[in-house]
Amino acid sequence: MSTVSITKRGEDRIRNGHPWVYRSDVAKVSAAAGATVLVTGIRNVPLGYALYSDRSEIPLRMLTRGREEPTLELWRTRLDAAVTYRESLNIDATAYRLVHGEADRLPGLVVDRYGDYLVLQALVQGVDRLLPDLTRLLVERLQPAGILARNDPRVRLLEGLEQTVAVLHGSVPEGVAITEGRVRYVVDPYHGQKTGLFLDQRENRAAAAAYARGRLLDCFSYHGGFALALGPRCEETIAIDASEEAIARLRANAARNGVAVDARVGNVFDELRGLERLRERFDTIVLDPPAFAKNKASIVKATSGYKEINLRALKLLNPGGTLVTCSCSYNVGEAAFAELVYEAAVDARVHVTVVEKRMQGRDHPVLLGVPETYYLKCFILRKIA
Ligand code: SAH
Repeated sequence: MSTVSITKRGEDRIRNGHPWVYRSDVAKVSAAAGATVLVTGIRNVPLGYALYSDRSEIPLRMLTRGREEPTLELWRTRLDAAVTYRESLNIDATAYRLVHGEADRLPGLVVDRYGDYLVLQALVQGVDRLLPDLTRLLVERLQPAGILARNDPRVRLLEGLEQTVAVLHGSVPEGVAITEGRVRYVVDPYHGQKTGLFLDQRENRAAAAAYARGRLLDCFSYHGGFALALGPRCEETIAIDASEEAIARLRANAARNGVAVDARVGNVFDELRGLERLRERFDTIVLDPPAFAKNKASIVKATSGYKEINLRALKLLNPGGTLVTCSCSYNVGEAAFAELVYEAAVDARVHVTVVEKRMQGRDHPVLLGVPETYYLKCFILRKIA
């Protein structure tokens, strides 16, 4: 059996329930890249089994703390549990996440469902190596018409894996029709961001819709997730995204759903300033930016970016209006995000109440004790008079 021994510090982490062991805590390796390995602690005490990566800063991701070597049966059982959990949620959509990596105890694996198709991502060497078997297990459990591997995220480079997009089973069209509540989309799983849509915001879009009214401004709109969910309750909808392609798709989706959206290509930072100069006012504003803090080094800059857009949005909001403000940066935690939004309110000289504090949808579970699985914060705020 391939074996990796780790330091006392690594052992303590595992005993505390965290599934990751960092490179600095790895003592000795006798294993090939992507192998399933026995992890041992000091004095060779067996600690369980893990997926091993020879290139990553996180060389070990624990699979089990047990004595028995994991077989494909373990993957089958965990995939089944992940799918069964999603089925129990009665999700009012045909697109959602089926497997959310570590939080489903399937480290490094993401599987999203888009109607009859699955789009997966293998983010670590061990999962990449198991892909033929995992494809078979997914077909067995779900009988999809096709499975696409969107193995092009940059994190794969850190694992020494190539960036590829490939059909693993059946066939997958470039346009897949899906529904989310009443909204109908056509998704491009080959080229869309992430696996095609921002599925993690589905429940927040539905929650935000309950407060939407008047003039709506959807910033960082992508394909119109918030604009199309909230628009039907509003008198006028403006959506802004920097990507021309995203705005083109938003327009097509808006037409498909009969929702009038004034969709603009632009940089939200500039556009907010422009709207302020024009003294425009809104009753509902959504801020759903990309992760400004991709790593620890960018936290300060990211925080000032988040603060700026929140400050400007709060100024553009009518009293009584709703701000839906989000951050998907894991590196800016919930408390830090709340603090910067508060500072923005102080600078804007407005009073704000917290209507709802939300997070990523339930199909993207958070594993307690593993803060890395909690990344998306979504606050629904009310500007009071
Ligand atoms: N709200 C969307 C998801 C937003 S993802 C939904 O519910 O589906 C973030 C989006 O921000 C991307 O579409 C990206 O193109 C856009 N973006 C990134 N930086 C931007 C900027 N400075 N100005 C405008 N859009 C930006």
